[in-house]
Amino acid sequence: MTAGSHDLDRVGFDGVERRGLMFVLSSPSGAGKTTLSRLLIDRIPGLKMSVSATTRPMRPGEIDGRDYHFIGKAKFEQMVKGGELLEWATVFDNRYGTPRSPVEKALAAGQDVLFDIDWQGTQQLREKARADIVSVFILPPSAADLERRLHSRAQDSADVIRGRMNRASHEMSHWAEYDYIVINHDIDDAFAEVQSILKAERLKRERRTGLTTFVRELQRQLEK
Ligand code: 5GP
Repeated sequence: MTAGSHDLDRVGFDGVERRGLMFVLSSPSGAGKTTLSRLLIDRIPGLKMSVSATTRPMRPGEIDGRDYHFIGKAKFEQMVKGGELLEWATVFDNRYGTPRSPVEKALAAGQDVLFDIDWQGTQQLREKARADIVSVFILPPSAADLERRLHSRAQDSADVIRGRMNRASHEMSHWAEYDYIVINHDIDDAFAEVQSILKAERLKRERRTGLTTFVRELQRQLEK
């Protein structure tokens, strides 16, 4: 999946062809990334969620196939060996990975793809398709806010929450590898910021492969 190795051209909203992009959101758990991802998918046309595979147990309220593909360790290993994952990593003793084929299909069908993955997965995607990756790191406004959100989810045991708090600091140390940093003081503001990033990135000259033809046609009309 190096840049140019697959056909990502599609017609943008303004009629100019462009390459599809892979929009990555990472953050320590509890910083609001899942809520942001849902808002983006619900409100932004042309953006499709990449549903990861994981070996971790399903939490209350989660749906297989929507939140994750919940699979066993043996199946995960099989996917790794078969080259079916675009990237994968071990997080909190569980395995997580991005199934390759839905991503390639979405990009080929003219959609941008949203990834909720950690820094390890982001590094792997960057190695494979640097020009097509736009990465955003979401930070909580404070440690107290992060702890409050982890508790209010009420999905994890106290031990698991403590573990996540301990790891948050380590995860955050990767912030400088990301293109954009959003501090989630308020979910609506954070959404507006992430939406602005996506809008601007969709307009980037290098992605807009149809611009040469578009401008030539404009010039042809002007010089008639
Ligand atoms: P959770 O168990 O809270 O759903 O997710 C734990 C962490 O795993 C989060 O930081 C999430 O972004 C990350 N994660 C989820 N899916 C993937 C994936 O497919 N690949 C990688 N590398 N990380 C993932």
